[in-house]
Amino acid sequence: MVKSCPDCHKAMIEFDMGSHVFHCSNPDCLFQYVDLRTGKEFRKERGKTI
Ligand SMILES: [Zn+2]
Repeated sequence: MVKSCPDCHKAMIEFDMGSHVFHCSNPDCLFQYVDLRTGKEFRKERGKTI
């Protein structure tokens, strides 16, 4: 199953096989990554430095 980004709907890429952490393949997207084990989503905030 290919996961798609909830923000831009592009395909998401798993960081490491079995890590359950997926990041968006679109560099312009504010969605950063999701951890499927916790369901937590991380987003970049426009105009803010993390
Ligand atoms: Zn995205």
